[in-house]
Amino acid sequence: MSETAEPVSPAPSNMPNSRTISDLCEKFNVSRATYNHYHDYYHNSILPRIRINYLAHLVSSVEELIDEKLKSDRQKIDPNFISGDKAPKFFIILRPDPPPGKYAAVECFAKGAFIKYKPSKDFKRLRIFIAHELGHVLRHYKVIQSSNLIENHANLFAFIAIHAKDRFYKTKIKDLLYDDEGHILRTIEENCPPIDGYRQMKNS
Ligand SMILES: [Zn+2]
Repeated sequence: MSETAEPVSPAPSNMPNSRTISDLCEKFNVSRATYNHYHDYYHNSILPRIRINYLAHLVSSVEELIDEKLKSDRQKIDPNFISGDKAPKFFIILRPDPPPGKYAAVECFAKGAFIKYKPSKDFKRLRIFIAHELGHVLRHYKVIQSSNLIENHANLFAFIAIHAKDRFYKTKIKDLLYDDEGHILRTIEENCPPIDGYRQMKNS
């Protein structure tokens, strides 16, 4: 695909209000410094990686499907082949270095594929480009039946995948939303009760 991150921009302030933080520190028996450490680690080290793991669920599902296909193909040739958990799994890696003049491209190898994309803040386009390349990957490993219409089929896959995600965000996302910070805290408290010192040591 000639020349996009998940829309997970933080709210204007990604800090919960100070009352919530005080409640957290009290209920979880942690200091404000510990709270700040976890907060900063999440927002400075984890979130930037989430942002560039474009279409992560889709990518991971495609990896599994291809992995299963390759192992099944291998078993047909070699009935003695046993694919245990220790066998390396097929991987797809996204890298921000496409060939010159291209918005995205893919290179497929025996055990993995590299999808190379040109970084952009236009997340809608970038997601389409990556989904298009995933369409190529599915065909390359013969997970989806092929014909000569390679680019059209990649576009078709991009439409179906992005449309399904778009529908999910528009209709299902509300099932995953909490009313407010207190709702999140209550849900943790009710379902993951604080543990005492002895179990804390056992589990650490
Ligand atoms: Zn293409």
